[in-house]
Amino acid sequence: MSPALHLLLPLFLSAAPAGKTNDADGRRPVQELYQAMDGLAKSGPWTVETVYEDEGLPIRVLRTEKKGPALWLLAGIHGEEPAPPNAVSLSTADISALAVQGIPVVVFPLGNPAGYSKGWRYPDADERGKGHSVGDSDSRLLDKDGKPRAAQPASPQSAALTGKVLELARQYPPLLSVDLHEDDHLPAGYVYSQGPRGCSDPAAQAVLRRMAELEYPIKRSGKTDFDEEIKDGVICGVEDGSIDELISARRVFRDGRVQEGPSGRSVIVVETSSMKMGLARRVRLHRAIIRMLPELFKAAGK
Ligand SMILES: [Zn+2]
Repeated sequence: MSPALHLLLPLFLSAAPAGKTNDADGRRPVQELYQAMDGLAKSGPWTVETVYEDEGLPIRVLRTEKKGPALWLLAGIHGEEPAPPNAVSLSTADISALAVQGIPVVVFPLGNPAGYSKGWRYPDADERGKGHSVGDSDSRLLDKDGKPRAAQPASPQSAALTGKVLELARQYPPLLSVDLHEDDHLPAGYVYSQGPRGCSDPAAQAVLRRMAELEYPIKRSGKTDFDEEIKDGVICGVEDGSIDELISARRVFRDGRVQEGPSGRSVIVVETSSMKMGLARRVRLHRAIIRMLPELFKAAGK
């Protein structure tokens, strides 16, 4: 981290308003998540950037000095899903070790801090919970006619976040991308695979094996709340306009024209169930997935 960034960090911390944290479900206060990011940034040659400042809370991305085919880790895109960003904040030693091993890494530790601090899925949710995902990528993704699916970004947060993804994908092309989520409508966990290897993606399969080893319940079949079909624990080939679809996209709409996209190779989304299971057990599962990242990265490169 550059000395200049080091000086800025206390400003970011002081920007987090006190008393705004919704920690009734046992989630870590948002300030502790920022402290963990600071700890990771100081652990090696990491660069920290604020992608967007939302209600005084910075959306940050951390990346290693080393560039090249990279490992991407995302958490906290949906604010009502606390286990993933909590797990990331407790796993900074494992994430730091990736950099020490020479793996180029991009981390979005808390994609939606305003949503997290309120316990809301979307930072701009109305009284019925309707709002826009910070990862909404429809203005960057193409429809069947090669036109952008949406004329405008869904929100300033999604504009900033998806723009940063496309910018960083140039220097850190995603070999493996793992986006950690939770589902409060299904009683068991499952995985999305957005990359070209689809349902048989080795990273998706390895995560499911680990879930089984840890005796974590897996949703093997059926449908999600969004009517997506789960086959043997995996949902593959969906066009959901997510940031993960963007990370896997071969072609995107950027700066007013169609350009080459991030073309992620293994792009997976891990979903734990928050329906009946306590937060501590879900955090343990996400931490176990984070510990698998060196192995998953290796498999993605084969
Ligand atoms: Zn989610």
